Amino acid sequence: MSTQTPERHEFQAEVKQVLDIVVHSLYTDKEIFVRELVSNASDATEKLRHTQITEKDIFDADLDLEIQVSADEEAGTITIKDVGIGMTHDELIENLGTIAHSGSKAFLNALKEGGERNDNLIGQFGVGFYSVFMVADSVKVYTRSWQADGQSLCWSSDGSGSYEIEEADDERRGTRIVISLKEEYKDFAKKDRIEEIIKKYSAFVQFPVKVDGEALNTIGAIWLKNKNDITEEEYKEFYKFQAKAFDDPRFWLHFAADAPLEINALLFAPTENMEGFGFGRMEPGVALYCRKVLIDNEPKNLLPDWLRFVRGVVDSADLPLNISRESMQDSSLIQKLNKVITKRFLKTLEEKAKKEPAVYDDFWQSFGLFLKEGVTTDFTHRDQLLKLLRYESSYTEEGSTSSLADYLSRAPEGQKEIYYLSGASRQAIETGPYFEAFKARNIEVLYLYEPIDEFVMNHARAFDEKNFVSADSDGIDLDAIAPETDTDKEEALSADATEGLCTFIKNKLGDNVSEVSASERLVGSPAMIINGDKMMTAQMRKMMKAMQQQQGGDAAAMGGEPPVKLQINPRHPLVKNLAGLHDSDEALASLISEQLLDNARVAAGLLEDPSAMIQRNYKILEQLSSK
Ligand code: ADP
Ligand code: MG
Repeated sequence: MSTQTPERHEFQAEVKQVLDIVVHSLYTDKEIFVRELVSNASDATEKLRHTQITEKDIFDADLDLEIQVSADEEAGTITIKDVGIGMTHDELIENLGTIAHSGSKAFLNALKEGGERNDNLIGQFGVGFYSVFMVADSVKVYTRSWQADGQSLCWSSDGSGSYEIEEADDERRGTRIVISLKEEYKDFAKKDRIEEIIKKYSAFVQFPVKVDGEALNTIGAIWLKNKNDITEEEYKEFYKFQAKAFDDPRFWLHFAADAPLEINALLFAPTENMEGFGFGRMEPGVALYCRKVLIDNEPKNLLPDWLRFVRGVVDSADLPLNISRESMQDSSLIQKLNKVITKRFLKTLEEKAKKEPAVYDDFWQSFGLFLKEGVTTDFTHRDQLLKLLRYESSYTEEGSTSSLADYLSRAPEGQKEIYYLSGASRQAIETGPYFEAFKARNIEVLYLYEPIDEFVMNHARAFDEKNFVSADSDGIDLDAIAPETDTDKEEALSADATEGLCTFIKNKLGDNVSEVSASERLVGSPAMIINGDKMMTAQMRKMMKAMQQQQGGDAAAMGGEPPVKLQINPRHPLVKNLAGLHDSDEALASLISEQLLDNARVAAGLLEDPSAMIQRNYKILEQLSSK
């Protein structure tokens, strides 16, 4: 490689896209470029500190690890200098010429999702290094890698289509960025202004950030401090700094432990659920330190996957400093940390739920899905997680929820199971046929609104040794739990007539039904489909079918609808009439039987194509209207 004459490189297309937006943006908080560059300087210094542990031959080994900022108001320039790992020629191209890194990538993705140019996104995602082109005419990056055989280089660009790399005179290890401000932004080069910005955004940087030799950040490793010495405001600011977040934390957990490991941890629950906003799956966000030295910003196994929304820092003096990211994957130390921290976090949630139920409920609304995911994927913590579940029920008001323990505390003596029903809404569940029998006996039913809820019930199977049972299941003996409260009931069809009618309907419906029987449970509805398999509700079946179809399966080829169990209500006028009709007008009775089945399918969420049922419905109406 020869860098005698400047080498010209085109920015990667995506970078040009980002630059174009950044340069022309009307985003008002242009000062964030300082935060981005100081944070890069800090990252590079952290990396150097980590490299020092594993490598012997480091260029300029004894420099003080600090970040220096200086401004020349006259010239309109700002210089930010670190003694971090620096960059080689190839690293310059890779890091400052492409978009391989996190911040800008998230920005681009968000742009694609949003479609429009959105100035706010610049602030929300921190476009990283490229943000400097909001305020700069030109930028020079002088750099010298830590590697002994490194080279002094200078990268320069005006933020349009290309950049240049050339050899530089003797640089010290690290990176020095010289920003030449656009005329209208020369204000940033005032000493007061730059000091103010650094105090605002860089308070928690782990190395001294000095302006003209004076360190402006004094807070340091907040997670190692005593709780009493930290203000609420500092906690909030630290969260924003550490998580690169723009919301406030909902609450935090700051603890120290000595056994089985020495741990100092500061964990935050965010206010916003970014996954809920459609930004895709979150990356884990709890950084791992060993005595203030950053080991990994996003360690994969430090917390279970379902806790990926948690932000913060875990510092353990027991970690070997030279632990590599690879060996961390299956390190038993990491597993121990995982166990301790998860337990503590769950305990915090439990305490919140007890002492500040409103705060917990609000958390549940935003992050409940993660806990549900935990129940289905994390056997170790399942029991603890089950205590944290909250559901609406037939006993709660719309919008308020109950814990499973509270549900059981209200259940009558004889109730040995926990009943639930799935549906799109409270109204859908309460007007369906399955709820009637429970309502008539005042037996509480949990309302499940989300597809994952049934998986939760299936995976957990039981809470406090009481099985979860879908209220549309066969074989629930409600009379053993409580009698019906409404005693003046319609008289039922005789047993003989009921049996005759069941046989008739079964014959007419053929393979669509496996069984037709009289229901003990129905009150106001004429019929319902009952679920023979307690573990496989109609909703689940529907979902599995949808999944199979998505994978290219064809419903018809799979044998169409599986037969269902139909139950009829011998007290319902329609059923009683039908019993008389099947002798006098078999054709109409047959049509009505088919319609009964389809209506029950609709109530069970099992009817996908209503066209046949609508045609039949017209036929029935036609016959009625001719009378
Ligand atoms: P991010 O910090 O999210 O990775 P940036 O756009 O801020 O993205 O920076 C891009 C990359 O450039 C960094 O990942 C890093 O590899 C490199 N880089 C930026 N500033 C420095 C620096 N001061 N020292 C060494 N490398 C740097
Ligand atoms: Mg950065």
